[in-house]
Formats: sequence, structure tokens, C-alpha cells
Amino acid sequence: MTNNLHSQEARLQTVLQRITDACTHYGRDAGSVTLLAVSKTRTSDELRAIAAAGVRRFGENYLQEALEKIDALRDLEPEWHFIGPIQSNKTRPIAENFDWVHSVDRLKIAKRLSEQRPDNLPPLNICLQINVSGEQSKSGATLEELLALSRQVATLPRLRLRGLMAIPAHTEDFETQRQAFRLMREALSQLNADGLALDTLSMGMSSDLEAAIAEGATIVRIGTALFGPRHQKNKTPVH
Ligand SMILES: *Cc1c(COP(=O)(O)O)cnc(C)c1O
Repeated sequence: MTNNLHSQEARLQTVLQRITDACTHYGRDAGSVTLLAVSKTRTSDELRAIAAAGVRRFGENYLQEALEKIDALRDLEPEWHFIGPIQSNKTRPIAENFDWVHSVDRLKIAKRLSEQRPDNLPPLNICLQINVSGEQSKSGATLEELLALSRQVATLPRLRLRGLMAIPAHTEDFETQRQAFRLMREALSQLNADGLALDTLSMGMSSDLEAAIAEGATIVRIGTALFGPRHQKNKTPVH
């Protein structure tokens, strides 16, 4: 256990150093990039350990699993980000339990989240997910749909449209990684030129965070590099 804690602490320091180094290299303020710990398949104990090391923001993909952890970790008051695909019959618990949703890709979902966001909570922070590589299998709005969708989502009263999110096609090639993120940066600045005040680019994962930071990422979503290889969903994690 002590060993595990040490290696988790070491992984966290490595990730923070990668972020700092990329910011330095690309002339960005180190405070302009936020680390989101992607905690799908991780146990509440693992989240507690990394929270003790200073991590305050968690990203979850699967609603049921997330709700259990949200309940178990209430005393820590972390910020919870929903980053997985959203079925329209699951919007209410998302609207009620999360601070951010990164994976909104159609108006119907946005409307439901706005209607179902409780009045006693601040507006729900929203990123629109873009299928930036145009992969058939991936969710996300197209760049062509983006302007109209953004204008509509921006009018919904219980949401606060913050920016864009993408999961580009996997590649090891740095320049190819950067190209996809560049499209995201350009899309965000077009929306801002259109009068929307957006401040968030949620992009960059364990294998491409440097390319994302080079192109203006403000939230990097990191799983494997922080927690190690993912647990199988159908196996009981070892304690
Ligand atoms: C799993 C996941 C991540 C983290 O990926 P790693 O490669 O493990 O860092 C980031 N974003 C989304 C949407 C994910 O599903």
C-alpha cells in the first residue's frame, strides 16, 4: 500500500511537471492549464489518495459508477466533471450532481440539462464536444454544426457555455496531434469573434497533453498517466 501511494504521488508529480514544462515551452502561464483527473474505473480509495496529494477535480464517464463515488467522497467537496456519452434519459442525475459537463453534442441534451439543473445550484458549466477528426464511431457535433449549436446552447438559462471539448483520433505523431487541436483553437476563436465569451478548451489526454497545451488547452483530462493502467470494468479491483 505504501508502495502504491508512493507511485501514485510520483505519477502525479510527473504529470504536473509535464504540464509545467509544456507551458514553459509554448510560452503559456502555468496557471492557465487545469488538471482534470479522469477517474473512471478507479475506486473511491484511489480518489481519496490523490485528493490528499492536492487533486480537486475528477472526470467520470459512467453515471452509475460516478454517483457512487460522488456519494462516498462528499466530505472532500471535489469538483465533478461528466465527460462520457450522455443518454437523454440520464440527464437529470447529471444536472443534479455535476459541476461541469464536457460531452454535450446536441441541443436536446443541453435543453434537458438546463431544465433539470436545480435552482439552488449555480449554472452548470458546459463544453460542446466536437468530433474534430470526423470519425464515424465518435460522438460529437461537427464543426459545421458548431456555430448554430453554440448560439442556441448559450441562451439556455441554467447552463453556462464555457467552451469546447474533443477526443481526436489516436496518433503518436506530434504534428498530427497538433493539427486536430489547432482546429479546436480556431473554432473557439471563431465563436468568440461571433460574440460568445468562451474560455475553455478541454483537450489533451495522457499521450497528447503537450500538443494540446501547444494549441491552447485550458483543461487537460488525464487518466492513465495519473493512475496507471485502467482496471477492467468487470473485475473487482484489488484493495
Ligand atoms: C478515459 C478518458 C480520458 C483519459 O484518457 P487517458 O489516456 O487515460 O489519459 C480523457 N478523456 C475522456 C473523455 C476519456 O474517456
